[in-house]
Amino acid sequence: MQVILGLGAIKGAGPLPCGTIVFLPNVFSAGQPKGLTARIFLPFLIKKHSMDKPLEPAFSFSERAQQLTSSAIREILKVTERPEVISFAGGLPAPGGFPVEVVRAAFDKVLSTNGRAALQYGPTEGFAPLRQWVADDLNKAGASVAADQILIVSGSQQALDLLGKVLIDKDSKVLVEDPSYLGALQSFSLYQPNFVPVPTDEGGLIPEAITPELADGARFLYALPNFQNPTGRTLNLERRIALVKRAAELNLTIVEDDPYGELRYAGEPQPGLIALAAEYGANVVRLGTFSKVLAPGLRLGYIAAARPLINKLVQAKQATDLHTPTLTQMAVHEIVKDGFLEEHLPNVREIYRAQGSCMLEAIKQEFPDTVSWTKPEGGMFIWLTLPEHIDSTKLLEKAIAQNVAFVPGAPFYCGAGKTNTLRLSFATVPEDKIRRGIAILGKLLKAE
Ligand code: PMP
Repeated sequence: MQVILGLGAIKGAGPLPCGTIVFLPNVFSAGQPKGLTARIFLPFLIKKHSMDKPLEPAFSFSERAQQLTSSAIREILKVTERPEVISFAGGLPAPGGFPVEVVRAAFDKVLSTNGRAALQYGPTEGFAPLRQWVADDLNKAGASVAADQILIVSGSQQALDLLGKVLIDKDSKVLVEDPSYLGALQSFSLYQPNFVPVPTDEGGLIPEAITPELADGARFLYALPNFQNPTGRTLNLERRIALVKRAAELNLTIVEDDPYGELRYAGEPQPGLIALAAEYGANVVRLGTFSKVLAPGLRLGYIAAARPLINKLVQAKQATDLHTPTLTQMAVHEIVKDGFLEEHLPNVREIYRAQGSCMLEAIKQEFPDTVSWTKPEGGMFIWLTLPEHIDSTKLLEKAIAQNVAFVPGAPFYCGAGKTNTLRLSFATVPEDKIRRGIAILGKLLKAE
């Protein structure tokens, strides 16, 4: 009788006689495999379960979950984790802007002065002083909201999911800019809406395109007025006013998502839609986040909205995660309450300005004049439009072969995407690598 230890040994052992005793990891137990089990080798059993992989249990996924697919592009972009790849694909903020020491000191202070409260459950609505700070901050910029109209959430991504939960039914009409933030499209998609694209041009969303027919029955319009993800475009004042007026006339709720507004490094700051809403009587729901002004790992954001919506969102959040971590809320309040952001943000903006202008300069030098691109005044993205015959997904494969990555534009559209577009982020790439990566892309584009 033959005795064999482990799968590797099976492979190396040549044909096994029936009845051989094989010691294998205990993959047949529920939960994590523990220890080894002895099995008698029966050829049909080994063949049936192809022993190279542990057995995967089968699940009956919900219809909602069945729609979740991992995109082909995500698979291609996995290579961006290799250190030799210059990646313009990421959506991560610049880590040089994270105030590590200030965050450490704030967590220390909260834990040493108020540790037990910081480690306790808290109200779903959020830590009251932080809600008040957010309301005050919005009001300084022209809004008119009270602290009880603020819900603190675990990043604005959670805000998108909660809005989907409470505002979208299957086939509900949801208006989105075309292209729009992929993470929002994914979040809302779980609730199976009927996305209706609102046309955009170089100036962003076109307010006149929101006709009464388009707005009729829509649950909301999802808008990104500042340095939009993915295009980097910003709505000018005229369009902002036109948009808010139109929304008021058509009784259309606007969801204003503004993670990048504080990252303006050129041009004139524009009023938020929530500030104009007070003046023109529109219903604006505002999403904000500490991810780009402090650090995204904190997972802290907020929703400002009319009370009936906030109350519903609170119920939905309670069912989701009870509340946003108390310790993080208290530490961030400790950081922002005495005006830290005013001294910190100029440093952060400078990082983005320097890298953004380096990329624009390199693009101007290296790209053929058949390519056009946006010139953002803030944020972290540049959007490219290539000649129509170039498919950016195919270009990505060639770029990756030369260790450069970006995100093709098509997935950012809710309908038929323009395959000749792509997004570049300059936020996490040092200037020498920006120049090198753009030169490589330039050569590839000239060869197309
Ligand atoms: N909205 C937009 C437009 C974004 O780009 C992002 C992050 N990439 C988010 C929301 C989510 O950010 P967070 O959850 O970190 O606040």
